Formats: sequence, structure tokens, C-alpha cells
Amino acid sequence: MNALNNDIKYLKGVGEFRSKLLSKLNIFTIGDLLEHFPRDYINRRSAVKIRDLKFAENCSFVGNIVSVEKIQRPHKKSQLNVVVTDGEDYLFLTWFRFGNWFIDQFKNGKQIWVSGIVSEFRGTPQILHPQTEILDEEDMKLDFWKTRSVLPVYPLTEKISMNVMRNLIYKAFELYADEIEENLPPYIAEKFNFPDRKTALQKIHFTQHPYSIPQEKIRFAFEELFFTQLMLARSKYGHEKKQNGNKFTLEKTFTTKLKNSLPFELTNAQKRVIREFVEDMTSSKQMNRLLQGDVGSGKTIVTIFAMLLAIENGFQSILMAPTEILAEQHFNSISKLLSNQPKIRIALLKGGVSKAKTELKQKIKNGEVDIIIGTHALIQKDVEFNNAGFVAIDEQHRFGVEQRAVLSHRNSNPDLMYLSATPIPRSLALTVYGDLDVSIIDELPPNRKEIKTTYYNFNKSSVVYEKVETQLKIGRQVYVVCPLIKESEKIDLLDAETLFERLSTHVFPNRKIALLHGKMKTKDKDSIMEKFKNGEFDILVSTTVIEVGIDVPNATVMIVEHAERFGLSQLHQLRGRVGRGSDRSYCYLIVHPPISEEGRERLNIMIETNDGFKIAEKDLEIRGPGDFFGTQQSGIPIFKHANIIRDRELLKTARILAFDIIDEDHELDLTKNEILNKVYFSKYAKREKLFDF
Ligand code: ADP
Ligand code: MG
Repeated sequence: MNALNNDIKYLKGVGEFRSKLLSKLNIFTIGDLLEHFPRDYINRRSAVKIRDLKFAENCSFVGNIVSVEKIQRPHKKSQLNVVVTDGEDYLFLTWFRFGNWFIDQFKNGKQIWVSGIVSEFRGTPQILHPQTEILDEEDMKLDFWKTRSVLPVYPLTEKISMNVMRNLIYKAFELYADEIEENLPPYIAEKFNFPDRKTALQKIHFTQHPYSIPQEKIRFAFEELFFTQLMLARSKYGHEKKQNGNKFTLEKTFTTKLKNSLPFELTNAQKRVIREFVEDMTSSKQMNRLLQGDVGSGKTIVTIFAMLLAIENGFQSILMAPTEILAEQHFNSISKLLSNQPKIRIALLKGGVSKAKTELKQKIKNGEVDIIIGTHALIQKDVEFNNAGFVAIDEQHRFGVEQRAVLSHRNSNPDLMYLSATPIPRSLALTVYGDLDVSIIDELPPNRKEIKTTYYNFNKSSVVYEKVETQLKIGRQVYVVCPLIKESEKIDLLDAETLFERLSTHVFPNRKIALLHGKMKTKDKDSIMEKFKNGEFDILVSTTVIEVGIDVPNATVMIVEHAERFGLSQLHQLRGRVGRGSDRSYCYLIVHPPISEEGRERLNIMIETNDGFKIAEKDLEIRGPGDFFGTQQSGIPIFKHANIIRDRELLKTARILAFDIIDEDHELDLTKNEILNKVYFSKYAKREKLFDF
């Protein structure tokens, strides 16, 4: 086994204690340490002068400390001022949050590296809360570092100092550099002009010319993207090769009847998507398709076509939704749309136990129902389908990988469709769902009007309430969303309970108002939602628990309190609860200052566009892929070096190359792919099954 795979604790100078600390940086092996890259570099001999620092820009500077002063004014936060000089001018470094141990590191005369955004204080340049490092040769220990002008700056964790990190990496190189192996065949490395792996690593850590190493860094980003795509390519190839799906024929009985009875014309996007899956379903490959479309874009109707196609071939169709209320909503709307086709038998399978349920399960098993709609109840062991030909999973990201797998494997290889109302930016879709075919409904039905979005300061709430009153007078309904349920001592936010009180007693005393939040029992929540849907309440005050897919066409106003606190995708999802009928809808974003620059940018984007894909792109840009789906999303690969936003072009290139290679050589048996075979099957293949749902 390659020594780079050895546990990091066996590296000289690490041991049990430090290895625990390093694990927080995702460093578990010696190889991981070698791939712990600098986030910046310090040039100790930098000749940058203070007068050359650019205002409002991120600058690095090396100088000497001339004074250290802690200022404590009565009733004010204490302040630390450290003044540094280049021999001619002065620069103020200022902190407002610091401990005493922090002050102790700054001593007059010491050389210091400083990095941060330059501002100005009474005519003198200043950096607030800069990053710093005292450049003390005595602390460097190794002669190697003492002779260097340029030093790497590493991401650190508590109790591992910069010098310790530098020394560990230097040691790891000294002992293990010869173990660094190539992982790309020459034909790929040459194509991109990549330096060999060892040289690249060496340069990244020990360069004296930090601005001359982009190609070295790109190499590592490429590796991550490429091997992930190789995995996806193999998984997709696996699906397609199997050809074990049901080969349906378009009988045009139930499907045509549905088409002719629709109260509206399908949009072009809907027609295109229907063509895409009809092609899959009439071939012998098992369909694996992600259907993306903004809330209200009409995914349900498209899904019903697929259901009927399976049913007119004598199979059953299944729709799984994440909650009972959504399952019920689907059941009602599907029953309505198919009311002129009594031959199609539709059933809703609920949770819990009852005699009726036992009977229904028997019917499902005997093939006495054609469409089965339900929640997780569908994947319980005792539910057996007669012959599932098509399975749709609504809000698919709310289910775990295993749950999805149950439906696809336990049955007769049904065609699968995953529905998503969260528009997923292309670069993210390619890395997370890169082995699925993707259909996108990128067009809303024509009768929709843009949701008019505006933002107001909270002290202008009365203006908003007047506008709300006009809507209430003509019989429309209103959502109000707050970030918290209860008043909190820790955070000064308007909460749902307080707002509910205020609206019920002062603002709209004559209206029927309901309160909904996540601490309520599911049954109570569902019943309130149901009543709101039936028009029994005028206003629903809620936390963010209102279901994404809920369809209340009569609700035309969405008010979001503390809009500055919500992420873009979340705001877009909330806004999507209105605008589902043909009346004009309104979204009021109420802000409670202070509001950050980024917060303001988010609000402006919401006002500028209703386009879910544009908003998702922006959201991904601002928050990064980890936070985009929320933490519970499984299957997002964690990249150390690649950034799918910054590197989207590289991702495309890596994807094309990976898919071409697998197309030609799906088991990586060819001599030219020998290195790939070795690396892939030892490191990546074990993750394949995660993607195979
Ligand atoms: P999604 O599931 O994508 O959020 P739905 O399928 O629930 O959207 O559709 C939202 C509403 O739009 C439903 O009331 C549906 O009947 C209606 N609808 C769907 N397609 C069209 C269309 N082409 N023209 C007009 N209305 C449509
Ligand atoms: Mg839906």
C-alpha cells in the first residue's frame, strides 16, 4: 500500500492529539496533508509601501510594529490598536473583539504580515479585523523556512499554529515525496499541459513566485471533477446498458383522452418534456430522469401523461410525495383531471393502520388499482405492487437515496422520474445528478402574471397592511411568514406568535387568522393548511413550514418578515406559494435593519426577476454548493480544490472527457487507461453505489 494512505498520526510530530485536530481540516492521511493547500502566500521581502495600498481593496502588507494599545472607554467595547510602519508611513490595525492572549503576540519591533480590506481612520489607512502573522524567525525552527522569502499561509484549526502546519508539511514532503504517484495517463496530462503531480504539489507549497502556479492548481481541481464525472459516466452507462426496462407502446387510449380533455393548452416546454420521456418509456432502457421546473410550471400534468402511458400498457403507476397533505393534493387534482376516465382506478395510501388500508394493500397487490399515490407508506415492506411500470418521486430531494432505491429496485424495473421544484443550477445538476437524464420545464403557463415584489422597511408596515386590506376585501387570502415561532431573548426577531397576536387584535381584528408552525403536530398542521385551502381563514401566519408544493390559487399575497434573513432560494420558494391563480399576486419583503450589503443584493435580485433558475444561480454563487440544498442533502460531492461555480468551464471539459472515455472503455481495460483503472477502482469505485439509485 502506498505510504500516503497511512494515518496522519504516524507522521513524525503529529501523534494522537494533533491527528484529532487535523481531522477537523479533513486531514486524515499523509496524502491529505500534502493536499492541504495554502490559501495565500506571504512575501516577507515585499516592497509594497503603505502609500500604495488601495482603499477598499483586499491588501497584503509586511511591516514592523511600532505601537500596541488597548483602549477601554466607559460603556464602550474595548478596542485594540496596533500601529505598523514601512519606515515612512503608518497603518492602523484595529480589533473590537479579542482576548488578552491575542494582545500578547504583538510586540514592538516585530515583523508582521497583515491582510484585509483597507479603510481609513482620520486620514490614516486602517484595516479592521485583519488577518495577521508575526514573522518571527525564532518560531520558524526549520532553517528551510528561515531562508524563504515567500511563505505559504494555510487554513488552520485551533491549537495548530501556522509554523506547526508549515513544518508538518515540510516533513511530509521530505519523507514521502517519492511516494507521490501519477493519477492521470500521459495523454490527458499532456492534453491540458499539466505538470506532473509531484512537481505540482511541490510548487504549490514551496513556490517563491505565487502568481506563476495557476496550472498546478487547476490540475488538482480537474482531478476531482474528472474522477467524479467518471463515476457518474459509469453509473449512467450502467443504466443504459442494462436495457432491462419495460418497453411500452404509445397506445393513445388514456393518454389521448387526457390530452383532449385538458382545460388548457400545454406549454411548449411541457410538450417537449412529454416527448423526452415518451422516448425513454417506449425504449427498453429503464428511464432515470430528473424533471425540473419552478413551482407552478405544471410538472404534475406532465407526470400524469407518463402514468397513463404505463397504465395503457397494463401496468401500475406510483407517485410518492414527501407529506400527507401533498399526497392528498395530488390525489384530488389527479382524480379531477381523470374524472372522465372512470376505468382508471386511483388510490391514496395513507400512513397508519386501518381495516380500509389493509384492504387497499390487497387491491394494490392484486392489480385492482392503477394509480397509487402516497407518502413513505408506499415503501413499507408490506406494500406490494402488482406490476409497477412507472414511479414518480415528488420533491425528490426530501427522500434519502435508499428510499428512492427501494421503489426502483423492488419492482419490475419501472421507469423512474424524479421531480424537483428547486431549480438546480446546471453546474450543480451535473455534479449531483450527472448520471440522470434531465428534463426542464423552463416556461410558465401563459395565464400567470409576474408576482409583483417590493421591499419595505418594517416601520412602513402600515403601508403594506393597507395594500393587504384591498386584497382581503375582494376575497383573496394572505400568507405571512416569520423566521421564528416564539419570542427569543437571544435574537431580536419578530416571531410568528407575536405577529399573530398583533394582527389578530390590532391590525385585522375582523379577519379570520390562523397560526402555523413546525412545533405543531403533523395532524394539526395538515388540518390548518386544509382549512386555509378551503378558504376558512383569510390570513395564515406561519414559519417556513408551509409546504413547497401547496396549491392555493386564491392566495395572492405573501409577506415575508425579516426577509434579509432568508437565502435567495428560500425567498423564491416562499414567493412561489402565491401567483398560482390567474389573479395578480404580490410579495412584500419586510426588512428589519441592520441589513448587510449581501442582504440588500439578495433583495434586489428578488425584485428584478421571477426566474427560478437565475435566482438559483445567484444563490449558489453567494452561498456555495454545501448550503444550497441545506445540510441534509445527500450526494453532494465535497471538493477540496474545485469550485463548481468558479470552475464551471473546467467541469464541462472534465465531463465530456470522462463520458468519452467510458463510452469507449467502460471498464477502463485499455492499456492507455491503466493508471485510471488503478486509481479509479482503488479510490472512487466504492462511491459508485451511492449514485446508483
Ligand atoms: P408544479 O407541480 O410544477 O408546481 P402543477 O402541475 O401543480 O405545478 O401546476 C400548477 C397549476 O397550473 C395547476 O393548477 C395546473 O392545473 C395548472 N397548469 C398546468 N399546466 C398548465 C398549462 N399549460 N396552462 C394552464 N394551466 C396549467
Ligand atoms: Mg408539484
